[in-house]
Amino acid sequence: MSETVLEIHLSNLRHNYTFLRKQLSANTKLLAVVKAFGYGSDAIEAAKCLVSQGVDYFGVAYVQEGVNLRKAGIKTPILVLHPQLSNLDELIEHKLEASVYCQPILDAMLLKIKELNVSHYPVHLKFNTGLNRLGFDPKDATTLLELFKDNAPSLLLQGVYSHLAASDDLSERTFTKTQLKIFSEIVDVFSPTHPKTTFHVLNTSGVLHFPEAQYNMVRTGISLYGYANHLSADALLKPVLTLRTVISQIHILEKGDTLGYNRAFVAKARTKTATLPLGHADGIGRIYGNGKGYVMINGQKASILGNVCMDMIMVNVTDIDCQVGDTVIVIGPNASAENLANSAGTISYEFITGLSQRIKRKIIS
Ligand SMILES: *Cc1c(COP(=O)(O)O)cnc(C)c1O
Repeated sequence: MSETVLEIHLSNLRHNYTFLRKQLSANTKLLAVVKAFGYGSDAIEAAKCLVSQGVDYFGVAYVQEGVNLRKAGIKTPILVLHPQLSNLDELIEHKLEASVYCQPILDAMLLKIKELNVSHYPVHLKFNTGLNRLGFDPKDATTLLELFKDNAPSLLLQGVYSHLAASDDLSERTFTKTQLKIFSEIVDVFSPTHPKTTFHVLNTSGVLHFPEAQYNMVRTGISLYGYANHLSADALLKPVLTLRTVISQIHILEKGDTLGYNRAFVAKARTKTATLPLGHADGIGRIYGNGKGYVMINGQKASILGNVCMDMIMVNVTDIDCQVGDTVIVIGPNASAENLANSAGTISYEFITGLSQRIKRKIIS
């Protein structure tokens, strides 16, 4: 292999799906979050694979992401977490379920639905229980319940949900418990008159830390792709993505020589460097430069020297037996994206969703 390739291992996706299913009670549905190109993988291939495993729902951030799934033939219900006023026509046209998080979206949905003469259109009401990002105030629950009764033929209250702010952080357990309590009070408002509504509040870390709050559905993203912000679960999950590249050229720097743009690396001693064909335009951000990030070459860590260029990085191979053409692993089974991200002060989510579309994807079923 002579270029940078992102392998998408569908067998690992199936493995992670099975692991997550085992954490859920029998009547809890699983919504697989496939936003942001399936967390940097390939949303359509990931979705097709999950359909074959019996997934119940998909979640995407934006309408266009849902439209892409529909155009690829995905018939499974799709929840759009963050629809905008400007694309509600497309949302309805492609039978995507809307997250209704504020009055203007609710009003616009009602108007569109009447205009298009649609009935029982499924929507999910989103409540803000402490993340303060999107959602109705929990105090509005009863008013909204009345509104849904009044508009019963046009809107179907398919779901009621909220999102946790710090489910991965056990030092914030009290805060999360408070969010869950507020959510349970919202559930109590709706469930007597809406026994068929799907209530959902847990993301990956929620499933692992607060399994008692599964209700009838959970929304998992990162864990499907192999990371869980959780030591014991991380050990059981398998990374879907392997990012591999090759050594393009090797240089020997003598003491005092400098490397790369702005001469950011200065050799303190004789240094052997390898130049690799991927850079910040591929998603290896400049934060990984200057010794923070690293890649694996022949089983050893090679740290990134100097500034990350747009199309290349240079790594330290002084103590590594290697040559031009050798395989380089950036992330993979023995090179955790979480650890790499942490080395530069960020998280696996950012690293994998930032892998740009320039990198060739290779599906491995
Ligand atoms: C992205 C997202 C998720 C998935 O979270 P993970 O931590 O990746 O499991 C769930 N719910 C909402 C509202 C999201 O935006």
